[in-house]
Amino acid sequence: MALSFRTDAYIDGRWRQGARRFQVYNPATQDVIAEVPDLGATETEEAVAAAHAAFPAWAAKPAKERAAIMRAWFDLMIADLDRLGRLISLEGGKPIAEAKGEAAYGAAFVEWFGEEAKRAYGRTIPTTTATRRYVTIKQPIGVCAAITPWNFPMAMITRKAGPALAAGNTIVLKPPHQTPLTALALAELAEKAGVPKGVFNVVTTTDAAAAGKVLCESPLVRKFSFTGSTAIGKKLGAACVGSTVKRISLELGGNAPLLIFADADLDLAVKGAIASKFRNAGQTCVCANRILVEDAVYDAFSQKLADAVSKLKVGPGDQAGVDIGPLIDGKAIEKVERMVAEALAAGATALTGGTKHPAGAQFYTPTVLANVTRDMRVNTEEIFGPVAPLIRFKSEDEAVSIANSTEFGLAAYFFTKDVNRAWRVAERIEAGMVSVNDGIFSNEVIPFGGIKESGLGREGGVEGLEEYMETKFVNFGGFA
Ligand code: NAP
Repeated sequence: MALSFRTDAYIDGRWRQGARRFQVYNPATQDVIAEVPDLGATETEEAVAAAHAAFPAWAAKPAKERAAIMRAWFDLMIADLDRLGRLISLEGGKPIAEAKGEAAYGAAFVEWFGEEAKRAYGRTIPTTTATRRYVTIKQPIGVCAAITPWNFPMAMITRKAGPALAAGNTIVLKPPHQTPLTALALAELAEKAGVPKGVFNVVTTTDAAAAGKVLCESPLVRKFSFTGSTAIGKKLGAACVGSTVKRISLELGGNAPLLIFADADLDLAVKGAIASKFRNAGQTCVCANRILVEDAVYDAFSQKLADAVSKLKVGPGDQAGVDIGPLIDGKAIEKVERMVAEALAAGATALTGGTKHPAGAQFYTPTVLANVTRDMRVNTEEIFGPVAPLIRFKSEDEAVSIANSTEFGLAAYFFTKDVNRAWRVAERIEAGMVSVNDGIFSNEVIPFGGIKESGLGREGGVEGLEEYMETKFVNFGGFA
């Protein structure tokens, strides 16, 4: 069945065509899928003004009413999982089963936060003085702005829009230029669900800097949330604080270590390493970037991993049984090729892969690199491709030291059967999220986020709602 989707931007409850349009590509074939409006600063300002006008009425709705509308939005997403999954796969490249998984994961944020809105409790604080009583109340912040990346075309949006709307805020979203269609599909479903005009706005553009400037500097925007690279996040965060002291959330890059201790269940470790490293062809911020293996099991683990990785099926996302889709664009392929070539020239060896894949211009063969050293870029930088570099370690101290030798601190993984070690290493690793004996952990109920240069704030869980609310303290005085 042909895939139907919206191709106009969505501002103030109206579908906007724009004077100019830009093309959206299928990364598996480089075919043009659609053209969407290439809007600029003026339309972004209009979207902010619409969100500002819609804010008082949305904020004034009882949480139960907002939750009912969000539930309707969620139900429509669930009814439309098949189309959303196909759209995510078409413009983002991930295998269709994985894309449908993202659609369900993305929808869950809308369900969870709608429900949590009803439990946005303040506190009563025991007084210090007989004549006073103290309470805190939770209030929405105002107009929120969100800029999101292409690697989760849906979930990175709902992780922000879910808590923003639940708390009573309105939002202006600028999706990535590679994957705007999923964002527009969410707007279509929001409209059907009865989300009032101006509450959820989508501005499509290739001029991210112009839209970003408005979203960061407008005095009408009170909260800015960004998911993307650390370099851009730092710039935008500085602009938000420097211009108008906005609340900010930054979900940035990672360089996740995955540690295999000699006492680990090696088959479980191989399964976990593949799940973590090769998800979305290695293009997630929490993908294991580098795999550190204890000397005693290095050879056995490397062989098992290379055998399993060589069996992964590469191809377009809509082909049955595909595990690894294309990378997002030509730049991504060039970066992976360069990093692997440098590692091989410096003494690493490819146990499997190490080259582009014949499936098409943007496909890379799943790769395992042995004899990787700490100074290689595959260890120090985010690869964002299907390449697993293996680094040898001799002791727990050395493993933790290699793991922590990075400016990033998003996710970390390790495999061990020793309970004491599990606690010890979980405490010592510098990361916002640590997963023991498991390669995948993301869902709507956990606080997702990083430390160090991986970001500020948390998305998901009760912490995720806090990011979109102000805590106001109220003093009642004059008690006799
Ligand atoms: P990116 O280049 O930073 O782009 C992310 C978003 O920022 C896109 O919407 C992009 O728009 C926009 N943007 C780029 N330059 C801008 C500017 N000067 N002003 C305003 N907006 C601007 O990142 P990416 O390469 O697409 O995404 C991959 C990165 O995201 C990786 O580092 C990954 O680790 C990180 N990530 C982090 C998380 C997390 O939760 N921590 C989750 C997913 C991804 P255009 O597309 O139009 O350029």
